[in-house]
Amino acid sequence: MEKQKCQEQVYNNWHWFGCCNNAKYERKGRWYCGVHDPDRRHKQVTIRSAKWDKEWAEKSDRNERISLMDRILKDKTVDELREMAKVKESK
Ligand SMILES: [Zn+2]
Repeated sequence: MEKQKCQEQVYNNWHWFGCCNNAKYERKGRWYCGVHDPDRRHKQVTIRSAKWDKEWAEKSDRNERISLMDRILKDKTVDELREMAKVKESK
């Protein structure tokens, strides 16, 4: 029998790529390796993805802030920026 490869797509370092492990389990016509077997992963993923979702949300929130700040601050003079910083400090 031809060796099946795991068909799971893996997200890492901000890219999707196919898992290259040899598949061990068939689930609903798709093949998965031991790591990506949906039945096995289901419980683990629930816990892990909650943590991961939080990290991702924080990261993307930070990235959005930076890009928004960049856009806002580009048009400001240094004096204006100093004024803005003062307002923040006095809070
Ligand atoms: Zn896999």
